[in-house]
Amino acid sequence: MIVLGVESSCDETGIALYDTQHGLLSHALHSQVAMHEQYGGVVPELASRDHIRRAIPLLEQVLAGAHIDRHQIDAIAYTQGPGLAGALLVGASVACGLGLALDRPVLGVHHLEGHLLSPLLASEPPTFPFVALLVSGGHTQLMRVDGVGQYALLGETLDDAAGEAFDKSAKLLGLGYPGGPAISRLAEFGDPSVYQLPRPMLHSKDLNFSFSGLKTAVLTLVKKQTTNLCEQDKANIARAFVDALVDVLLAKCLTAMKQTGLKRLVIAGGVGANSQLRNALNAAAQKRRFQVYYPELEFCTDNGAMIAFAGAMRLQLKPEAAQRDYAFNVRPRWPLNELGI
Ligand code: ATP
Ligand code: MG
Ligand code: FE
Repeated sequence: MIVLGVESSCDETGIALYDTQHGLLSHALHSQVAMHEQYGGVVPELASRDHIRRAIPLLEQVLAGAHIDRHQIDAIAYTQGPGLAGALLVGASVACGLGLALDRPVLGVHHLEGHLLSPLLASEPPTFPFVALLVSGGHTQLMRVDGVGQYALLGETLDDAAGEAFDKSAKLLGLGYPGGPAISRLAEFGDPSVYQLPRPMLHSKDLNFSFSGLKTAVLTLVKKQTTNLCEQDKANIARAFVDALVDVLLAKCLTAMKQTGLKRLVIAGGVGANSQLRNALNAAAQKRRFQVYYPELEFCTDNGAMIAFAGAMRLQLKPEAAQRDYAFNVRPRWPLNELGI
């Protein structure tokens, strides 16, 4: 079965073809980062309009890349939520329009399920069950995953997401948008002994997180400087921020592994691309003898491949979940726990 995946929940248009027999056939992505950069964040209306411009050319590109004709597509999966309503509507209408034209079933996919299953696209994928840390721009959650659709929430952030903390702190340091990769690169040159930032909820015993205080601590540090921040100061602050955030993520992952007794930890979402986090997790996994898995770097942030893949898994599990009426509705807010099998 060949499934076309359409992702348009935020500022990336992602299109991909996944074949349940041969794996990922091709994928293409257009990031709108350059367009939103000057505004310091995503402008929803601009995002929707750009998805409209990009979707069909990207579709042509993946069909050509996979050397298939559009009539060979067996089903279409699109991101139904959560995300920006207008942006989601573009992907949904493209998917349903194609489904209608090609007479193929269409399935709405949960964006976070896409992220969560993205490590399974890697060359050495984890097997179920596993603990998953989902660290993206809008979410920070620890989950126990027993299979497709079997997700038990173990803990989550009470305020900002990890990616959001990266982006907001980067903005305070004048690093542009999105700030995650920039702050991470800068932190490499930072001296860890200059500043110490708080590790929120490190000892809270539960598996919840809180990152808004960390961002405020960065703000306080920046405000304290009497002169303009020099590059080394910025690097030192970036380092203090990354060290604090990674410490908390690592500690909570270790607690989750202990609590569940599981031996596989899976990281998903944009912050999963972070090298400091990966280094810390790899070292801990080796010491404590568990396995840690990541998505391919290009599939950490939003992409169409994870949506095609999640759609294919769902369709295999429950073919009747697909719709044939092509009446689409998106779900900008959609808690993952409302998603059954
Ligand atoms: P959600 O999936 O929760 O709706 P999103 O789709 O915006 O949110 P992702 O695309 O998974 O989130 O990830 C984007 C986030 O990842 C941004 O906050 C970005 O700064 C962060 N990020 C990307 N690369 C890195 C990196 N190397 N280090 C730290 N953060 C990073
Ligand atoms: Mg994005
Ligand atoms: Fe995402």
